[in-house]
Amino acid sequence: MSQNKHLYKPRRSRYVPEDAWIDYPGSILASWHELADRNGFRVDRRVRDHLHLVLECKLCGAHTAHKTHTLRAGQPACGGCQANERERNAKKAGFTLLDRDDAHRHYYYYQLPCGHQTRLQRSRVKRLSKEGPAPGYSGYHCKTCHAEKQRSQAAKWGWTLVGPDPDGSANYRLLAHDMCGHHQRVATGNLKTGRFNCGGCGEKWSAAPSALYMMRFCVPGLGRFVKLGYSRNPDSRLRYQLGLRDDVETELIDELPMPSGQVALAVETGLHLQLRTAHPDAVLAPEVLADWINVTSEVYAEHLEPVIRRMFDELETTDRRKRE
Ligand SMILES: [Zn+2]
Ligand SMILES: [Zn+2]
Ligand SMILES: [Zn+2]
Repeated sequence: MSQNKHLYKPRRSRYVPEDAWIDYPGSILASWHELADRNGFRVDRRVRDHLHLVLECKLCGAHTAHKTHTLRAGQPACGGCQANERERNAKKAGFTLLDRDDAHRHYYYYQLPCGHQTRLQRSRVKRLSKEGPAPGYSGYHCKTCHAEKQRSQAAKWGWTLVGPDPDGSANYRLLAHDMCGHHQRVATGNLKTGRFNCGGCGEKWSAAPSALYMMRFCVPGLGRFVKLGYSRNPDSRLRYQLGLRDDVETELIDELPMPSGQVALAVETGLHLQLRTAHPDAVLAPEVLADWINVTSEVYAEHLEPVIRRMFDELETTDRRKRE
């Protein structure tokens, strides 16, 4: 008898105090030995009262308490094998199993790869485990990260995410216009592109002034990078928009006003194309910075800083010439 081994107990008995699980005197029937053997167990001892036995799993060696009745009914489960399977599934899905939800028997708490925690159904994790933690896999999206991303998307266009759609659609969010305070529903697809107008002040997305910016940032242990992008207000909310971690140092090193969001988008797209073509080695792979910033495209190695600066200068000169 190895009573110092962890004893798995039936879920129904979870409110039975720990000190109730002491040895129970009496002999073990030959028929119990036989039944246990047939089900992949060995009877280790009697426990708690005349109704309970401790079964040792022949596969993993774990001890599980069961009623003699469960044994006779023919399907005693091994608590150790079940726990191993849960751990395995969580790991394969890229999660860490934290704890069970005591109130709901099919639910467990998991830590996600991004560091956030969530409560999920065991069977869902089992399904996800078949997909594996491949980068960009479609199985599970962290709700916290997703909300943060939408908040930063809204900020990029000069809006603040207020909450879910008051009409209950999963494809809409409620937003407030920073400039005039007007609240309105916006489709999540438009939230991404910024293509929506304000029903309060009448500002049109395509006409709202914008700016190209270049930002230098320093990631602990990884070095310095530059980001080229555009935003309604690059200075005040840029860190927030990009979802940068607190330990990333940033500096806004250049800024070029654009007459509208539409122009900014077109110019920015052109610049990225030029940079990717001329300096493919300086384009950072998205996964390198995934833990540090939520917008991982359009980031370049530090040495492109003077190249981008020249691009900004040229744009400014052409723009001035056009106006003269
Ligand atoms: Zn087992
Ligand atoms: Zn997350
Ligand atoms: Zn407005």
